[in-house]
Amino acid sequence: MKNQDLVDYLKECGVCLFCQLRYLKARGNEYQNKQEYFEKVNVLYEEDSGCIEYAPTNKKKRRNVCPTCLDLFSDDFRDQLLLSISSTDIGKYDCDGIVIAMSIPIILQLRQLSMWYALIDKFGDNVSLDRTPDVSLKEAIKLILNPTICEKLKKSYDINNGLMVTINLSHSQEEEGITRLEKLNNIVNPRKRGEKYEKISRSLIERKYTPARVSSELFKEIFDVPPLISNEGLKFDSISLLGPSVYVAGRYRKISRKLSHTPWVLNGERVMDDSIEEIINRNIANYFCDPKKVNFMSSGREDVDVRCLGAGRPFVLEIPNALQSSLNSEKARQMEDNIDKSQKVSVRDIQMVKREDLSHIKMGEEHKRKCYRALCQIGSVATIDMLRKLDLQQGFEIQQKTPIRVLHRRPLHTRPRTVYSLKASVCQQNKCLIILDIVTQAGTYIKELVHGEFGRTIPSVASLLGQPIDIVALDVMEIDLDWPPSISV
Ligand SMILES: [Zn+2]
Repeated sequence: MKNQDLVDYLKECGVCLFCQLRYLKARGNEYQNKQEYFEKVNVLYEEDSGCIEYAPTNKKKRRNVCPTCLDLFSDDFRDQLLLSISSTDIGKYDCDGIVIAMSIPIILQLRQLSMWYALIDKFGDNVSLDRTPDVSLKEAIKLILNPTICEKLKKSYDINNGLMVTINLSHSQEEEGITRLEKLNNIVNPRKRGEKYEKISRSLIERKYTPARVSSELFKEIFDVPPLISNEGLKFDSISLLGPSVYVAGRYRKISRKLSHTPWVLNGERVMDDSIEEIINRNIANYFCDPKKVNFMSSGREDVDVRCLGAGRPFVLEIPNALQSSLNSEKARQMEDNIDKSQKVSVRDIQMVKREDLSHIKMGEEHKRKCYRALCQIGSVATIDMLRKLDLQQGFEIQQKTPIRVLHRRPLHTRPRTVYSLKASVCQQNKCLIILDIVTQAGTYIKELVHGEFGRTIPSVASLLGQPIDIVALDVMEIDLDWPPSISV
């Protein structure tokens, strides 16, 4: 089969130049310079060939709709597509990159199939029965349409972080095409009794419909071969946009002893007005999207009445459909200042991170060390002997039953936990108060470690001391996670 014969036949069927190139198996940027490629494969190049006919009624030149791509690759379609994309909210997204996902009607696939049968009729054994004779529409969209759209919109194609533009196309003959396909499907794949009907889909056509599996005679009983020239091109059903997911990390210090980690709601009523999650979300996420959709994650959490000091606790926000794909340092510092104004939480090191970095927050939680400072009360004045009993720099192991206060949300277990070190000092203002510096394995319940909870934690500070002791106030001093990287201002 000569390339010229193939192109002559395609022209006869009204196939457009781009589709002619598809059937000549053009690759990569060969679609951008049509003439050069035609010459390379020894085919006479004619601008607009195959697409012109004289409408008999008014004798005017009229462009046909290409029977194989339904004008998917025409200039008109591209211009309409650009116009439709521009009329969406695309301007609200500050993204340099885009990804295009085009959903094409099934009728286009059927038309490729019909042309395949036509080529077999025309060129016989030169055309394979099980390998498609053309570059697929999906591939051609990537090679032809995507680069043009990106160029016109002045965006780069960015599969990882780009704004996702989903374009759904339809055609007036879609329904009729599917009805015919169902008819064919009932003959080719007759349903056995009780067998579920396989829904007509693109993958069904790709898997089960090739000239090797469905005879030409049968196909022609139901479909036109070659595909008829259509009067109508494709229509836009909808265009939807989805911004990239971005990740913003930082470290928070909790200064308030009256602040819950997440919104605290009891019997449908809020117990506290605000929470760490909400303060951080509304000051950071607002810049990117609707804060309600944001996922707040932190490396552990503290109780409502516990502060978190030192370098703070690492956190990260997962922000879907973001309008912004970057965050400059000035904006980040401004967010930190705004959070500071809450006087409940202070945040530092706000920065964008990669999705992979989320593993820092999620992994190895059990193995991390945490440093606490606890202000504790005893029934008498603290003595040197007491302080000596609580000076355990070598650390020790404890067995801790799930505290009663969390039993409603955690299963009852006895967990071994490591206390890496314990050190006590007397509060100078009140000698009945002891300051404990405790380094423990993450996941240790500190309040119970101190008072022992009726022997549910063994040993405890109370059992080591040999008398009751209670926590007045607790602070987290350090979290053993050197992430996200510190930002020096
Ligand atoms: Zn075409």
